[in-house]
Amino acid sequence: MLSAGKEEVLTDSYGRTVRSLRMSVTDRCNLDCIYCHNEGHIGHNKEMSIDTIVNIVDVASQFGVDRLKFSGGEPLLRKDLEDVLARLPGMKDVSLTTNATLLRNRAFSLKDSGLKRVNISLDTLDPDKYRSITNCKKGTFDKVLDGIHEAVDAGLTPIKINMVLLKDLNDNEIEDMMDFTSSYGGDVILQLIELMDFRELPQYRIDSDEIESSLLDASSEIRVRELHKRKKYIINGAEVEFVRPVDNTEFCANCNRLRVTADGKLKPCLLVSDNLVDVSHASKEELPDLFRLAVSRRVPYCRS
Ligand code: SAM
Repeated sequence: MLSAGKEEVLTDSYGRTVRSLRMSVTDRCNLDCIYCHNEGHIGHNKEMSIDTIVNIVDVASQFGVDRLKFSGGEPLLRKDLEDVLARLPGMKDVSLTTNATLLRNRAFSLKDSGLKRVNISLDTLDPDKYRSITNCKKGTFDKVLDGIHEAVDAGLTPIKINMVLLKDLNDNEIEDMMDFTSSYGGDVILQLIELMDFRELPQYRIDSDEIESSLLDASSEIRVRELHKRKKYIINGAEVEFVRPVDNTEFCANCNRLRVTADGKLKPCLLVSDNLVDVSHASKEELPDLFRLAVSRRVPYCRS
């Protein structure tokens, strides 16, 4: 265990201190997005128990990690997420990223259990295009919209709409999406995401510099986030963030995130798979050293 009263943080050999945990809680998903990176790991349907999740988060928070994001797969396929949330230590930020198809009936119970906010994946406002990107059943798009409304009502805000930009598929919808998000006042923010091409889909790769310069032209103010030095543009009062992970040394140099796979492995980097640290059967006493080991394996994927 960490010694009482001593504040140890997890800093890697590149001077990057881990402040956030991105934890996949299941590999199962009810959609099949054409570009999905599956958080860089398939755990063959093994899922951590509530106790394992809580122990990992507890130990991380003793190391000063104060932000947690649940991901997947689709995290809302886990029916015990509220039970997990209710047992977590106090943290600055507890969020999850979801496709929102199952959010309508869960938003209030998630909020009541301690979830602070949600990121919702929505790449298009066109139901037919939505079906072709996500391979979903008819009617799913409406469920997502209902989920967004419910999340706003439940106060899971600010909600970020995650829109992965796909050339000639949805890159003409940025303005419509800005109108959609700003129609919720400050409760919904647009987060544009550069495609990480895990599936050999070069036809969908966008020109990020071009997009960035059009955001720059349209913006009245730019803010820079600590995580990954991501830029936020203020455009007509709306916030638009552009996440550019591809070939971006600044992104990696400012990465403060450690990942946990659904089957209970600490994963130092989305793009690296041969350096995982298995904590699925670790006791709480063993966890601190395993965290230190994982952090010692953190290397910026992209560096100059
Ligand atoms: N099912 C949940 C969801 O839809 O948000 C969580 C899992 S999903 C893998 C998490 C986020 O990763 C989503 O916002 C998705 O858009 C993003 N994502 C998935 N594949 C990506 C890729 N190849 N490039 C960039 N972002 C990607």
